[in-house]
Amino acid sequence: MNNQNPNTVNIFKRQTSGTCTCLSCHQLISVTDQTCPNCQRKNPSLWGYSRTLRKLGVDFGFTKIIIWGCLLLYAATLLVDIEHIQGGDISNILSPSITSLWLFGASGATPVFQWGCWWTLLSAGWLHGSLLHVAFNMAWVSNLALQVATAFGAGRLVIIYTIAIISGFLASSLAGAFLPSPLQGAATAIGASGGIFGLLGALVAYGQVTKNFTVKQEAWMLAIVMFVIGVITPQVDNWGHFGGFVGGFLVSKIPGISAQKPEGTAQMVLAIGCLVLTIFSLVTAIAHAYTLNFFDLPALQMLHSH
Ligand SMILES: [Zn+2]
Repeated sequence: MNNQNPNTVNIFKRQTSGTCTCLSCHQLISVTDQTCPNCQRKNPSLWGYSRTLRKLGVDFGFTKIIIWGCLLLYAATLLVDIEHIQGGDISNILSPSITSLWLFGASGATPVFQWGCWWTLLSAGWLHGSLLHVAFNMAWVSNLALQVATAFGAGRLVIIYTIAIISGFLASSLAGAFLPSPLQGAATAIGASGGIFGLLGALVAYGQVTKNFTVKQEAWMLAIVMFVIGVITPQVDNWGHFGGFVGGFLVSKIPGISAQKPEGTAQMVLAIGCLVLTIFSLVTAIAHAYTLNFFDLPALQMLHSH
């Protein structure tokens, strides 16, 4: 039996000779080129690792990171407090308890403005409130993230998604703390939908910058339809959707993030910074919850009533 697949190369192996494609413009270059002759990107082969990254896909695997990250965290929020899993009807089947959502870094007016847990503005984007919630959001992520990666580049996708999550939860927490009842935001907010609306905002910005009216129109239509569905569905964090869209749109207009030029090393470094910040937010949330003895339910209720 021959296990050797000729197409399998060691993906961690650094390429030192021959040709590869430029990480930014995808043109064929020599792996030893210091600058891409086509798009002038510096270090276009990323020290010979561009082939490795290309194998991870146009998004360098970030879509998979979001989906697996959200699914694992969803499972963790269920397992940590099995006794209090909620869910009578289909819309909230398998809902983690509010305690475990707070433990893992749920956001909103209560955590941000009452408790001062500002890191939840990012951690909450990786948490979900029910099976349907996580399933719908991940279906949208798998579709839109690849589109944004194709349009902007993988590094910019990470940056746009991260900023949109933060701006979404900032909007819903501000509206939850300071707006009167009919317009009020969320006391507790979770979910990737702010990031998803941010991806739609980015595609609208892309359509404007590149004068691609089909992309712009489709992204607008999707955003409006999804926003209206949110408004007529109870318990949806509409401020989070709005804030995510605006954040994703605005950040995509910044020179260096906008899709006018191929991305380079600076965007990659920023993207890695965003990933580190995301891990930091989740770790901080859990560490902070432990120091507050969050599993002690009476103590938690006392906190909440303040
Ligand atoms: Zn190039």
